[in-house]
Amino acid sequence: MTSPYAKELEVAQLAVQRAALLTKRVFHEKAKGTVSKDDKSPVTVGDFGAQALIISALQANFPADEIVAEEESAQLRADPSLRDQIWEHVRSTRLDDAASEEAVLGGAVKDAEAMLDLIGQGNSQGGARGRIWAIDPIDGTKGFLRGGQYAVCLALMVDGDVKVGVLGCPNLPVNDSAALTADIGANQTDDEGRGVIFSAVIGQGATSRPLGSGALAKGQKISMKPITDLSSASFCESVEAGHSNQSESAQIAQKLGITKPSVRMDSQAKYGSIARGAGDIYLRLPTSKTYQEKIWDHAAGDLIVREAGGQVTDTTGSRLDFSVGRTLASNRGVIAAPAAIHSQVIKVVQEVLGQK
Ligand code: AMP
Ligand code: MG
Repeated sequence: MTSPYAKELEVAQLAVQRAALLTKRVFHEKAKGTVSKDDKSPVTVGDFGAQALIISALQANFPADEIVAEEESAQLRADPSLRDQIWEHVRSTRLDDAASEEAVLGGAVKDAEAMLDLIGQGNSQGGARGRIWAIDPIDGTKGFLRGGQYAVCLALMVDGDVKVGVLGCPNLPVNDSAALTADIGANQTDDEGRGVIFSAVIGQGATSRPLGSGALAKGQKISMKPITDLSSASFCESVEAGHSNQSESAQIAQKLGITKPSVRMDSQAKYGSIARGAGDIYLRLPTSKTYQEKIWDHAAGDLIVREAGGQVTDTTGSRLDFSVGRTLASNRGVIAAPAAIHSQVIKVVQEVLGQK
């Protein structure tokens, strides 16, 4: 008997692993084909290429499913030279295990036009009905460009609820018990000993395995670290001050009795790091009244942390609601912590945010 979502989990992990082969190649190139999007945020050849590869794997296996993906194809249709750079990467990226590549992922993308079509398929509006995949091909693009952390993110939602989540983190240590060091978010690379895939299926726990280049490596269960003493806890937050309010997080940490400085890293690598007990708490505090968090920035991490024994809510203590479209329009910020202390953290978050 196969467990629920076994096929989805296998395809999702292989698709993320293959996309990470492409992002790792671009990571080591000096010119990453960076362009600016309408909202002024950067996007690279790596983001577009990884999105094309992931969507091709999903369409080969689950053609009826909808897809919400971060990147759009319009900009590429107007820029043939950028399109060709991306195509060069997509064309040449294959898993080195033929059974995984051909039999599971459906093999190579046909041509550059097909690639643009695939990228454009990620335009679902999301919502509360049916099967919808959320893709962030490179979460933490700024970290990717800076040489910090980044993550290839994929999640399946069914009727608005996350059922499968996968995060590929090429620059995190493979070793689940490696403690988080203050430099984890800067000057990182994907040398020997780096690269991990986190995954979870609803009701089945969370797992980590080494990020490889062919068939999936063997995984092991992960769980959050039980906290008995908050003074020895560590918390993670964004590197980018514009993504999370770092002065409020410092006040919250102080009130909780946390003595260590925050560990700053880009991307959903924060969710993976606390899920395996390398860190304890993830604080994401709104920096503006109008910003709505994007579902692709949180869907996989939310499930992985909850399946590892954590609780994930917004700053008011409400669960993240993935059923309202491409953004988390009903939520404000994110607070993730071990279930046993989550309400204590929320209480302090509200004391600090309420003071403004
Ligand atoms: P992180 O690496 O955790 O800082 O998060 C990266 C993500 O932050 C990007 O993928 C963006 O979608 C998202 N982002 C962009 N602007 C904001 C903002 N003002 N507040 C919170 N998140 C943002
Ligand atoms: Mg992102």
